[in-house]
Amino acid sequence: MTSNHAPPQKSFSIRILTRGGRVRIDGLEVTSGERETLARLRRQTAMIFQDPYGSLNPVQRVGDALDEVFRVQRRLPSAERAERVRSLLEQVGLPASFARRRPRELSGGQCQRVGIARALAVEPRLIVADECVAALDVSIQGQIINLLLSLSESTGVTLLFIAHDLAVVRRLCERVAILYLGRIVEEGSVANVFDAPRHPYTQALIGAIPRITPDGSLAHAVVSGEPPSPLALPVGCAFHPRCPHAATRCRQAPEPELREDGARRWRCILLPGALAPGGSTVPIELDGSGARAPT
Ligand code: SF4
Repeated sequence: MTSNHAPPQKSFSIRILTRGGRVRIDGLEVTSGERETLARLRRQTAMIFQDPYGSLNPVQRVGDALDEVFRVQRRLPSAERAERVRSLLEQVGLPASFARRRPRELSGGQCQRVGIARALAVEPRLIVADECVAALDVSIQGQIINLLLSLSESTGVTLLFIAHDLAVVRRLCERVAILYLGRIVEEGSVANVFDAPRHPYTQALIGAIPRITPDGSLAHAVVSGEPPSPLALPVGCAFHPRCPHAATRCRQAPEPELREDGARRWRCILLPGALAPGGSTVPIELDGSGARAPT
C-alpha cells in the first residue's frame, strides 16, 4: 500500500513484479544484488519496523541513535548534527530533552516516534513501514498514523505501508495491493478497491471488517479453510481451495494472469460484476448466522 500526499514532482515510483519475485524501485532492481544499486537504494530508502522497542539499541541514547545516522549516512560535521537531532525530535513531536533518554525510558508510541525520526534522518524518498502501528494501543496508532500522514505531506516522502489492518490502510494510503500467498491478487486506488473489490479474496478481507448489523449485533465475514503452504501452492488459482466461486478452469494450470483495466489490476478468471451485482462485496459466511455466499 502506498501513500504519497506530496507534490507530484516528488513522487516516487514503486513497481513490484510478482513473477520471479523481482522488485523495482524508481527503476532500480532491488533484487539484482549489485553493490552500486544497493548503495543508491540505501541512500534513498529507510524502514520503520513493527516492534518499536526491538528496533532500537537498548543501551544507546535516543540522541546517539539519530546522531549515528547523520554521521554515517549523511556525513555531517558534529556541530551541525546536534542541531539536526533536536529538530528531528521536534518534527516527530518529541521534546529535545528526549535525546538523553534510553529506549526503556520511553513508551511504545514514543519509541515508534524515534523509529520514524531515525528513518527521516536519512532524508529518504521512500520509507517502508512494516506493520509499524500493529504493536501499539489503538489510541497511539491514531497518533502515529496522523504523524505519518503529516510527514508525508510536509517532506514529500513516499510511504510503502505493509499492514493487515485494512481500516488503517484505508485511512493512510492512496493505492493498495492485496497479496495472497505472495502474489498480488488485486491492485488499484484505495477508493476503487474498497468500494468495489473484484477478487474474491479482497471481497472476503473487506467483508471481514467488523460491522454492526441492523439488529445491533456485531458481524464479520470469514473465509473458510486454511491457506495452503507457500512451498506447495495449488495448481491453477492459488485461492481456489477457499474460493466459493471456484470453477473447473480455476483448478487447472496455468494460474490466472493479472487482468488490467486502466489503473486497476486483479487476478481472477471472472469478470467484474460476475461475483455480485454491481461488483459489491460478496458475503461469504457471516459469523453466527451461517449464511453463505451465492454459488
Ligand atoms: S480464478 Fe476462480 S478460484 Fe480464483 S479467485 Fe477467481 S473465481 Fe475464485
